[in-house]
Parts: sequence; structure tokens; C-alpha cells
Amino acid sequence: QLAPLDIPNRLLLGPGPSNAHPAVLEAMNTPPVGHLDPAFLGLMDEIQSLLRYTWQTQNQLTIAVSGTGTAAMEATIANSVEPGDVVLIGVAGYFGNRLVDMAGRYGADVRTITKPWGQVFSLSELRTALETHRPAILALVHAETSTGARQPIDGVGDLCREFGCLLLLDTVTSLGGVPIFLDTWGVDLAYSCSQKGLGCPPGASPFTMSQRAVEKLQQRKTKVANWYLDMNLLGKYWGSDRIYHHTAPINLYYALREALRLLAQEGIENSWQRHQKNVEYLWAGLEDIGLKLHVQQEFRLPTLTTVCIPDGVDGKAIAKILLNDYNIEVGGGLGELAGKVWRVGLMGFNSRTESVDRLLEVLPQVLSK
Ligand code: PLP
Repeated sequence: QLAPLDIPNRLLLGPGPSNAHPAVLEAMNTPPVGHLDPAFLGLMDEIQSLLRYTWQTQNQLTIAVSGTGTAAMEATIANSVEPGDVVLIGVAGYFGNRLVDMAGRYGADVRTITKPWGQVFSLSELRTALETHRPAILALVHAETSTGARQPIDGVGDLCREFGCLLLLDTVTSLGGVPIFLDTWGVDLAYSCSQKGLGCPPGASPFTMSQRAVEKLQQRKTKVANWYLDMNLLGKYWGSDRIYHHTAPINLYYALREALRLLAQEGIENSWQRHQKNVEYLWAGLEDIGLKLHVQQEFRLPTLTTVCIPDGVDGKAIAKILLNDYNIEVGGGLGELAGKVWRVGLMGFNSRTESVDRLLEVLPQVLSK
């Protein structure tokens, strides 16, 4: 006989998921209704307008994809890439590489510009790459979760217009916690997730596309090579036609709606400021105990910090003690940074002084052990 569910209550200070706000978990407990119920359709409309606010965009086609961030990532690629399109991807970490793999599977002629992990691209480097490759799409990761670096986007949309290409942006680790101005920046396609800066469980992922991107979709010669994520079909479910597409994970949408409502109630600028203030408090505390941070301060993310593992310290062992003895999760390094850094996330509901205090209280004890 199996025992009833018994999952420890952890403080999730890794790269995500972060802890959901208690009100979000409570909303998720609401009994489900049918996915074409007027009450649910109204909630979908609310999610759309709350997402527009959170992303600072007027894009009509702004929805949540039923799936995690990777599904929303795939939705941007599937709906924008036609076989043979040159797609230029900025790779300075693990998720840039995931975009490369994905775009290749949709028949793109993939080109890359690269940077050491933890660094970002300058506008002039992007200009040179656009001149060289003349892509149909430029794809960048705003918040590279594997490195903790924030790619500046201001001015990139203007460059893309000059070179006649679309701008696709991964905002998985930035939405809600890092300033984003999709329309001012001229971003054409963006995606995110629910489980980080929005403070919601994983599974319902924000997706948006601009009118320019919609026009490219309408003019394409080949069908979108992914039925589930085809915006021609999904748009009819989220739009006024309300044509059945799939059975939405109703309770996750309750949770997402509550998370976005809380964010709007706080005010998006206030949330950005809160994330910045708490991460600066974390950086100061980590430096006080003698730890070094991987990314140059100017380009550090407020949502995710990469902390260098000191020489002679077994990073995995420390993370294991934090988890087993103190119920605190921090992440290890990914890819090139595996074994070299810990990744500490302060996202959404978890971006609070209490979370930082708890980690700073425990970490020196664990390190001295
Ligand atoms: N892109 C970035 C930058 C991420 O950090 C992640 C996940 O952490 C993803 C994409 C994929 O999201 P998910 O794990 O929700 O599928």
C-alpha cells in the first residue's frame, strides 16, 4: 500500500520553479468547469489582457500555451520559421543552444553568434551579425538562466527593422521580475513560463506575437509543422470564434490568472523594483561571506544569480545539505558552468527579504561544515 502524498515544503531558491503564492495555490483548488464554459472563456480574456500588461504590449495574439516554457518556445519557432529561413541565434548559454536545436528541426538555416557564458551581445556585434547573415529572424535570450546574464534589448528591435527581420525573445526568466517593454523594444515574438517571476506552478506559458509576425504567419507557403502549437488554430480558440482546440488545464489557468492579478495589484514597476532591491541585498550578503559572483554587475539578472563555487568546495555536496537538512533548494551549474557555479533564484513570490535572510543564515554554517 502506498502512503498518501508526502512532499516536503521547500524554499525554492533555484532556477525555477519558485514557490507559488499561497493565494495562487488556493485558486488552483477551485473546482474545474468545462473549457468552453462562459466562466472559463471570460477568464481566458482576463489572462490575455493581464499578460499584455505584464509584458507591456498591445499584441492581440497574446495567449497562454498549455505546456511549459519549452512548449511556448516551440510555438514561437513553429509559427515564425519556414523551411529554409535564415535564423540567427545569439548563443551565450544553454537556452540559446536549445533554440538552435529547435529551429533546425523546423528546417531553418541556423546561424549563430556566440559569447562566453555569462557575457552579453553589444548592439554593434548584433549589427555586424545581421549584416553578415541577413536573417529572417533574430532570436535572443533576454535572461539566460544558465548564466545569470541579462541581454540588453533596447535598440535591437530598431536594428531588426532596418534589416527587415523579426525579433524573437526568450523572457522565461525575466517576465514579472525584470523590466520588459515588448512594444517599445520592437519585439515580434516572445514566450515565457508561469513558474518563475509569475510565482505560479509550471504548465501554462505566456506567448505573444506582433502584427508583423502574424503577417508572416498568414503569408507562409507551408503549413505550421506542429498541430498543437499552430496559432492559426489556437488563435481561433483564444479569439472570438472559440473553436475547440484542446482541453485546457483549467486549474492551472485559475492559478495563472490569480498570479497575474496579484502582479497587477502590486504594479509591474513595483515588482521589478522589489526584485532589484532583494537581489542587491543577496549580492551584498554573498560577498560578505566571501563568495564571488560570475556575472559582471551591470549585466546581472535580478531574478537569477550565478555564484562561483570556491576552489576545493564540493558544490553538489553543499546543495545536497541545503536541501536535505534545511529544505532549501539552490541550483547547480548547467552545461559549461556545471560544477563551477550555484544558481540562486529570487523570483516572484520568493523575491522577499525573508528568503535572502534564510539563505544567508544557513549558507555560512553549511560551508564551514
Ligand atoms: N528558456 C529559459 C531561459 C529557461 O530558463 C527555461 C527553463 O528554465 C526554458 C526556456 C524552458 O522552460 P520550461 O523548463 O518551463 O520548459
